[in-house]
Amino acid sequence: MDFDVARVRADFPLLARREGGRPLAYLDSAASAQKPLAVLDAVRGFDAARYANIHRGVYRLSEEATAAFEEARAEVARFLRAPAPRGVVFVRGATEAINLVAASWGSANLRAGDEILLTRLEHHANIVPWQLAAERAGARIVVCPLTARGEVDLAAFARLLGPRTRMAAFAHVSNALGTVNPAAEMTRLAKAAGAAVLIDACQSASHFDIDVAALGCDFLCFSGHKVCGPTGIGVLWGRPGLLDAMPPYQGGGDMIERVAFERTTFRAAPERFEAGTPNITGAIGLAAALRYVSALRPGAHAHEQRLLALATERLSAIPGLRIVGTAPEKVAVVSFVMEGAHPHDIGTLLDADAVAIRVGHHCCMPLMESLGIPGTARASFAFYNTEEEVVRLEQALIRVRRMTAG
Ligand code: PMP
Repeated sequence: MDFDVARVRADFPLLARREGGRPLAYLDSAASAQKPLAVLDAVRGFDAARYANIHRGVYRLSEEATAAFEEARAEVARFLRAPAPRGVVFVRGATEAINLVAASWGSANLRAGDEILLTRLEHHANIVPWQLAAERAGARIVVCPLTARGEVDLAAFARLLGPRTRMAAFAHVSNALGTVNPAAEMTRLAKAAGAAVLIDACQSASHFDIDVAALGCDFLCFSGHKVCGPTGIGVLWGRPGLLDAMPPYQGGGDMIERVAFERTTFRAAPERFEAGTPNITGAIGLAAALRYVSALRPGAHAHEQRLLALATERLSAIPGLRIVGTAPEKVAVVSFVMEGAHPHDIGTLLDADAVAIRVGHHCCMPLMESLGIPGTARASFAFYNTEEEVVRLEQALIRVRRMTAG
């Protein structure tokens, strides 16, 4: 299938931005992706013509807004190949989703001596909530090591699963290295050991199709702003039966059946976990984003893989530059270090060339520590990036090399 990147770029007003007379090369989509007109228009159109608070109104406008919000939920369910919209909980983002599961599922299921299996490449959002939950329960965090190429060591993962493992929580794709983890296989191993499984799909939902049934996990989460949607909206998907058995995370309006000072009863999922007025417009924008990115697949993925191959080839050839994370299965993320140049200096010098990349620990301090580096410079590509932008990155890095070497 042909993929017309010029046509796609025309959908993204921000990509027309110029800096210092040059077009901006935006190579930080793993942090946040830019938004197409389809999303900007959906958000504006909803706010301008269909907005009202949801679920409580008896008037037509509120009923229409409620229907649009619930249709957004159904869109997310289709995106995840989930059997029913009931498993889709709208949250603020992946961070809130993981905190919700760690707090709610954790309080009902974690006991002293239990183990939570994580991997060394996790984002802080998939570490700290589990530490908090483990501390409350007297449970223990177990960490699966990586191979030298930055992949989860599957044999170690299998070995570390045991009768005490209650939860295995891991990223589908590493934000810092781009590694695609064998999530279905990891899930199969964890389920066979009797553990629940949470997949952090923050960095996979933006690159390839997700199928919760095929993955076999219990929970999966992602953030809207990484799939060309708005910030402040994200998704926790959970098996409906499992979600209904979990205690509330936050209390308030909309999540209750009946409130009395003596005793309050709660609704089933997903409303049970959606206390208060949700990000209604955000959900509408997210649905528009999911429709947009889904329609571009699989051509978009193939295009990104071509950018990854080109960037890997060009950057590897720069003397003193070392790519960190060389797994055979990667999304279009290239993390690297350069002899004699601190990642922050690389980022600043590239900014002067209107090339925007991210530098630092990428919210993966334990990973950086295990690699023996304070951080990396990371270029992350989306389907709207071009081969010319890869070459601009290469040329800018060659200039950094000249300035900093010797
Ligand atoms: N997990 C991964 C793998 C991520 O890349 C990120 C965002 N960098 C998060 C979790 C947290 O997402 P958010 O900040 O949108 O809650």
